[in-house]
Amino acid sequence: MKIWFYNAQILQNCKIISGDVLVEDEKIVYVGKNPPVFDADRKIDVKNNILMSGFVNTHSHIPSTIMRGYADDMPLDLWLDKIIPIERKMTENDIYWSTMLGVMEYVRAGITCVEENYSFISPIMNALKKAGMRARISLGYPNVNQTKKVNLEQQFKEIKKNNFKAVCFAHSVYGTSQKQFDELIVFAGKNNLSVSTHLSETLKEVGDCTVKYDKTPVEYLEYLGFLDRPCTIYHAVHTDKDDLKILADYNVNVVTCPSSNLKLASGIAPIYAMQTAGINIAIGTDGAYSNNSYDMFKEMFLTATLNKTTLYNAEILKAKEILKMSTINGAKSLGFDNLGDIKEGYFADLILIDIDKPHHFPHNNLVSNLVYSAKSSDVYLTMINGKIVYENDIFNFDEKVEKIYSECKKIKSKIL
Ligand SMILES: [Zn+2]
Repeated sequence: MKIWFYNAQILQNCKIISGDVLVEDEKIVYVGKNPPVFDADRKIDVKNNILMSGFVNTHSHIPSTIMRGYADDMPLDLWLDKIIPIERKMTENDIYWSTMLGVMEYVRAGITCVEENYSFISPIMNALKKAGMRARISLGYPNVNQTKKVNLEQQFKEIKKNNFKAVCFAHSVYGTSQKQFDELIVFAGKNNLSVSTHLSETLKEVGDCTVKYDKTPVEYLEYLGFLDRPCTIYHAVHTDKDDLKILADYNVNVVTCPSSNLKLASGIAPIYAMQTAGINIAIGTDGAYSNNSYDMFKEMFLTATLNKTTLYNAEILKAKEILKMSTINGAKSLGFDNLGDIKEGYFADLILIDIDKPHHFPHNNLVSNLVYSAKSSDVYLTMINGKIVYENDIFNFDEKVEKIYSECKKIKSKIL
């Protein structure tokens, strides 16, 4: 399939250029003002709207979509007490439909690639495939205090068979045993995989870890050898200078999830200090049970502004740096090459954003507008791997939208 986008304002390397983009099958084959002869199956007039890379949502628990609004206005420990019993009730069928609901929201909001951290990977992968989502799927210990041993080899095989990337995931230093961490480190080393975990999300977690091990969570991970693998940590809200120095010494990516941290009153991650320390920072939504939406525009706005406020410095974390975190840095943290930007040879994961709206006018600074003014509802076309999966309120999935809603309604009445 060959698709020609013309009259576009293209976000390339976080700057706007005008021109055309040619897509052939799953790749971008041309970006610029003088396109070659190209026998396109479809030509799309972008009408000077913005064409940019799809967002890389680097941390999510997508089956939690069914629990949106179920455990609001409570701190993390009480929230877990409310969420865990529901998670235990969910069947593979529930996981599948809840994931499909989340996928609809993803593509509607321009999210084309995701890191998924949850149990029941089969129904999750089946749902993600229905929309052609790109993803890194976690194997290992996604639950708090999981006692049942998992077959890592089998999970890895299944992920590879479904053509997704894999990552070895431990829930957290408080929810995963040392033995389980060790098992994941060995497995990751043997199979050349990255590792990931929630870390330093709350003050309680840091306090408990320090009492138990005489180490901060970051020091504990270093002690375990978890940081010796390419590593992604989610949150890192309560990390001090010494922690950041350790993280910067290793191949560590930090994923910030500001909405989730704010809503659970966990705190504000020191993103600017991490950036200054040279750590790769990406952005995630976390699950809909704690966020409560999959909206990277909201996350970008918060990532840009929270540290400006805490440090009383409006000049830090500029809009273009934030856009990079939500696209290029995200692709890097998940280990995807040729993803996260609009360049020849890159995967055709791209979105169109309607800027012919009052909240974008008068187009003084399109890059700033993407971070400070745009809304997820401005996305009107989403392409993943060269296939248009969403366009003007129509989802091009192998699953009917009405069926997704009706199945989710049934699950809600059954388990919530
Ligand atoms: Zn999480």
